[in-house]
Amino acid sequence: MNKKLVAIVRYEKPLASVRKAVELSKGLDHLTSGAKVFIKPNIVFWTRAVPFPKWGVITTSRVVEDMVVLLKERGIEDITIGEGMVTGDPKDTETPAHAFEYLGYGVLKQRYGINYLNVFERPFEKLDLGDGVRLRFNTDILTSDFVIDLPVLKCHNQTVVSLGIKNLKGMIDIPSRKRCHNMNPGKDLHFWIAKLVDKMPPMFTLLDGIYSNERGPGPDGRLHRTNLLVASADVLSADMVGARVLGYEPEQVPHLVYAAKNRSRPFDLSDVEVIGEQIENVARYHEYDFKYSETEDGIIPVPMAKQGLKGVYYQKFDLSMCTYCSGINGLMLSAIRFAWKGDPWDKVEVLTGKSMKPTAGMKKTILMGKCIYQAHKENPDIQEMIPVKGCPPKPQDMLNALHQAGIEADPGLFENIDKMPGFFMRRFEGKPEYDETFFQIK
Ligand code: SF4
Repeated sequence: MNKKLVAIVRYEKPLASVRKAVELSKGLDHLTSGAKVFIKPNIVFWTRAVPFPKWGVITTSRVVEDMVVLLKERGIEDITIGEGMVTGDPKDTETPAHAFEYLGYGVLKQRYGINYLNVFERPFEKLDLGDGVRLRFNTDILTSDFVIDLPVLKCHNQTVVSLGIKNLKGMIDIPSRKRCHNMNPGKDLHFWIAKLVDKMPPMFTLLDGIYSNERGPGPDGRLHRTNLLVASADVLSADMVGARVLGYEPEQVPHLVYAAKNRSRPFDLSDVEVIGEQIENVARYHEYDFKYSETEDGIIPVPMAKQGLKGVYYQKFDLSMCTYCSGINGLMLSAIRFAWKGDPWDKVEVLTGKSMKPTAGMKKTILMGKCIYQAHKENPDIQEMIPVKGCPPKPQDMLNALHQAGIEADPGLFENIDKMPGFFMRRFEGKPEYDETFFQIK
């Protein structure tokens, strides 16, 4: 049996480390010189308002430039970098443009003649991936000859890990992203994610683990300097090895299980050959999930329970909550946390996503988002309904809902939503290993 090759390389220096990962994995061996190549980094999030932690959140520009250089060495002229990042307003084109410029893609364009694009300014094409999964993909990636998939080595609070397969979710349009978070039994988010890769052109996957992320995908996770690269011409093998490096057996990651089953592949890496570093020498357990405390006094994340908050029942997010509600869920929780003055609230429940059910005995129920509002707008079990109907919900409506529920949240937080990720920068002060220059190209 021909085993799939996966290289694990310690990141030591520019170009040489990525070159080693590519050579050991033979990842570009089937790339022809006239190929049209599409590079997919992971720019999961961006804000123009404040500096924010990018370590373990966004693919380093260091790795992106190194890949471009290696492609140019192979005579590749037609190179496009593309991403569809999450912003508060899907019509916002200035934030993605700012991200590309900050990350040095403009310099890459001048220096190497590459192109870069925001997929939301480009056409999408509907693909039928079987089993009822129909998604609209960016046409630039579909019409390329070869894809370089550059995710970050990170855990994800819904999908356990977010690596090469999950990174492709950034290539589908917004309605498709929302559709992935459906509630069909046996066909949940994991099932849909596993299919993202099925109609991709040939790919090379390089997991950028210069920095890694616990409880990702965003800057509120725990970010580590990890100095690893994981590379393979087979994305599923790269992801299974990446999962082990993050401390998970592939069978603990539902979308990898679906992807392996779809290809009649084992989950135990018995058809994979790892070269370079050995997994056991580099693996480090990364938590993927936020822990919640559930008592008769409330349901809230553990740090808020330790702070003593009582009377708020904020059920833990589930798979049906899509990316756009996830983006503002942290704001809602922070607003509640900062509003705590020591007096218990009067049984206020917050429901999110599409499938949560109201708890008996609650006095006020905030329905956050159009989906959960539609699900419960006529539910007789809700004593006082406080709907926040937007999709995604608007910050002002969220603030009004908290006030109506008796939680005196600070309006400033909601007016400056773009600035919130800046709070996390304090954790990295005086730590030179968290180096911003990895995200710049001089
Ligand atoms: S309401 Fe929220 S969970 Fe529902 S589709 Fe809109 S953004 Fe997603």
